[in-house]
Amino acid sequence: MGSKEQKDDEDFMLEAVAEAHKAFSVGEVPVGAVIVRDGKILSRAHNQRESTSDPLGHAELRALQIASQNTGDWRFEGCSIYVTLEPCPMCTGALLETRMKRLIYGAADQRFGAAGSVINLADYPGLPRRLEVKAGVLEDQCRELLARFFRRERKKKHKERWLSWLKALDSKSSKGMMSLLRGFESLSLRSVIQRLLQMGCLFTFTRHD
Ligand SMILES: [Zn+2]
Repeated sequence: MGSKEQKDDEDFMLEAVAEAHKAFSVGEVPVGAVIVRDGKILSRAHNQRESTSDPLGHAELRALQIASQNTGDWRFEGCSIYVTLEPCPMCTGALLETRMKRLIYGAADQRFGAAGSVINLADYPGLPRRLEVKAGVLEDQCRELLARFFRRERKKKHKERWLSWLKALDSKSSKGMMSLLRGFESLSLRSVIQRLLQMGCLFTFTRHD
């Protein structure tokens, strides 16, 4: 493969990464997609499943819908789609149905990936169409953003658990603990417990039912 094609693929993937960042900033799983025809971007989209409560809100399907609105056509022969994460079976099916030529993705998805990781619908015996697949373009960037998102989500859950525990305590005790906890937001649950034990805090509270 020519280095020009590799450079173009990375440039378009960067556009998809920018879309993924938009999803990240509003608390959506950070996946972005860009559809390209003859070196021109037809559409950009990011995952919006939570904010729209749309079960079909994946970045790839949204990019297809926007591109079809822009072109007045549902067929994408000769087009390429750049996605930061390997598409799921639903989206890979839509790419086949709409005659997409190439799929270029960043990070592989070992749970739902349908372009080779779990199942390979892009080249599936018996299906009438094939998708050309190129994997691992700007993989580290795409993967890092997803990892950062899920770290943040885990931290949020830790904090919610702590807050609900504190609410169960009487208000006087919990007030002091709440302000203490705010200082611990960036720490893991285990290190918070260790710090509290060191300070003798955990034994000073009594529960009033
Ligand atoms: Zn999908």
